[in-house]
Amino acid sequence: MKIIDMTCRYQTSSDELQALDVSRRRFLKAATAAGLAMNVKLGELFAAGKGDEAIATADRFPHFRSEPVSYFHVRMKDRFWAPRQETVRDVTLPWATSHWDAAGGLDAYRADPSVYRARLKPGDMEAIKFIEAMAAVVGLQRDAAVEGLIETWARFLIDLQGADGYLQAGFGVTLSHPPERWAAFSISHETYLIGHYLEAAIACRESTGGTALYDSAIRAIDNMADALLDSGRPYISGVPEIEQALMRLFGATGRPEYLRLCGWFIAQRGNHVSRASGGKPIQDHLPVQNQRTIEGHAVCAAYLFNGVTEYVGATGDEAYREAVLSIWDDLAEHKMYLHGASGNVSSNFEGYLPEPYNISPYDTYGESCAIFGNFQWAHSLFRLTGEARYLDFAERMLYNAFYASLSLQGDSYFYRNVSQTFDPKLRYDWHPVPCCPPNIVKLLCKIGGFFYSMDRDGIFVKHYGASEADIPFGKGVKLIQQGDYPWDGDISLQVEPSRPARFALRLRIPAWTKAHSVTVNGQVVQGDVRNGWLTIYRYWRTGDRIELSLPMRIERVTMPPRFKGYENLAALRRGPIVYCVEQQDSPAPIGQLYFPPDAKFTAEHRPDLLGGVTVLKGKLPQATTMYVSESPVPVMFIPYGVWNNRKPGAMSIWLSTKPHTLNDDIKAWNDMARA
Ligand SMILES: [Zn+2]
Repeated sequence: MKIIDMTCRYQTSSDELQALDVSRRRFLKAATAAGLAMNVKLGELFAAGKGDEAIATADRFPHFRSEPVSYFHVRMKDRFWAPRQETVRDVTLPWATSHWDAAGGLDAYRADPSVYRARLKPGDMEAIKFIEAMAAVVGLQRDAAVEGLIETWARFLIDLQGADGYLQAGFGVTLSHPPERWAAFSISHETYLIGHYLEAAIACRESTGGTALYDSAIRAIDNMADALLDSGRPYISGVPEIEQALMRLFGATGRPEYLRLCGWFIAQRGNHVSRASGGKPIQDHLPVQNQRTIEGHAVCAAYLFNGVTEYVGATGDEAYREAVLSIWDDLAEHKMYLHGASGNVSSNFEGYLPEPYNISPYDTYGESCAIFGNFQWAHSLFRLTGEARYLDFAERMLYNAFYASLSLQGDSYFYRNVSQTFDPKLRYDWHPVPCCPPNIVKLLCKIGGFFYSMDRDGIFVKHYGASEADIPFGKGVKLIQQGDYPWDGDISLQVEPSRPARFALRLRIPAWTKAHSVTVNGQVVQGDVRNGWLTIYRYWRTGDRIELSLPMRIERVTMPPRFKGYENLAALRRGPIVYCVEQQDSPAPIGQLYFPPDAKFTAEHRPDLLGGVTVLKGKLPQATTMYVSESPVPVMFIPYGVWNNRKPGAMSIWLSTKPHTLNDDIKAWNDMARA
């Protein structure tokens, strides 16, 4: 979220960002030493034990139609997500924490807390988010070293808190020059950080059962409520986040004052009676209930409207409901790229252009945090409406742009997830404002928590992938998914209720599939697909088996003519996977490849390539400024989600559909390649 660059004065030197030894051994040593240096016994802040995952929330959100099943209950067993969870634990986590230390942050704090207080830097405070990410790692599997590090970082933050509960660990400020409280507008991060602090605290309590950080966060929230509610103060949360954090707290506690505080924050947006407008960049141009299009910074929008959607789930507010549904439609139908990214570089604030259909592939912004935020929001909208179409978009984001955001190696990441590039250096080793890594780690760990939901009648199967789930529905239902999704659309679901019971199992039938089939114990299931769901309502016994077939065919995709910048361009998709071409897989420059309508492709699974992926192979002619080749060249398309993991080079999702004589795109691409 580079919006913060506008406020921060700190620049990290390249020396500070030098490559580090991020071996697990070093990480474990550092974490243990940290705990000893702080004289903190493991478990002092966080009690032993798994903790309560599920604070029942259904009665607190009466306008939501279902409740998600926590990731604590779902174990990924597939070849797509499970290896990445291991990579996050073994590589990404030590890589990220060592970078925070290398920037002179938490290591310096451990050496001398008093010195550190005077040199707080912007990126350090993204560490708050990383506490939540570490809690998610622990939620998958208890780990004493990680919990020791959480304790150290948590103590650091608790020490920053004022006696009255106020916490400001903000970007671009030092504690020797604290900002005026509750005075900042516009792009302030004051409540953004408190919101992340709260979410980290709740996550730690869920993962470990400990309450020290949670108690501190509650003091910060109560201090904020005392200062703002009924104060008449012309305040706005600036960069949103506190809204969704407060809804999470309301879900955890049921305390109405937190719901009221969230409502107060939402109502401040667009309320310009006694303050200047922050404008579209932070969605402050209109009151939320009057907004109908997605505007402004893409991460701000995702966080804000996810919070508002959750507020609607609790209150049923009709005006806000109409707003979030309309704003989502503007995003999904007009402003989302094929691979699930969103936002335009030319917006100049990492966000949306106001007009619809203006998402040229040359102009993709696609911040990883925005993909994460929109994915969350899509799931909240499903909870609100019950409609699977939101999950179709969630799947598109998840299996493509989000999957690409972290390298397969686990130690570099994309800030922007572009549609095409001729610059091979896009993935960051690190960045002074490391907002994306915590969100990437968090979602990779919690991915199983987005697979299933429950309502009074039964269970929703929202996403597919080999996994085992213990669903707390009725007396308990074990669901075992088998198959090789997303490479293969044949999915087996073994249903094992703890005792025979009648309930509904709803299978999401993705919009990309043209013909599905389902059997239960070999018997064909007939039934309409309603709102994207095929419902099987029956008396389930242990050993019942569902076979779901979602045939995946290779699709040539073009954009409707109303979309600017896609004239004479086409892409390839198979099932949920969007494909791209990397230069190393084409003997001709990819800007010169010509993609005729009758080009044929075949799918081939390559277990030896990029962790095991299904590639698409075909032959395409080459069009240069001089000629159109008579001899097509062999070209391999790889899943977008795994690009930039071999030698660096050009990449594009979209290829030209016409030879050069009719096509300016190739010239434009070649110009870009030379630039
Ligand atoms: Zn980010």
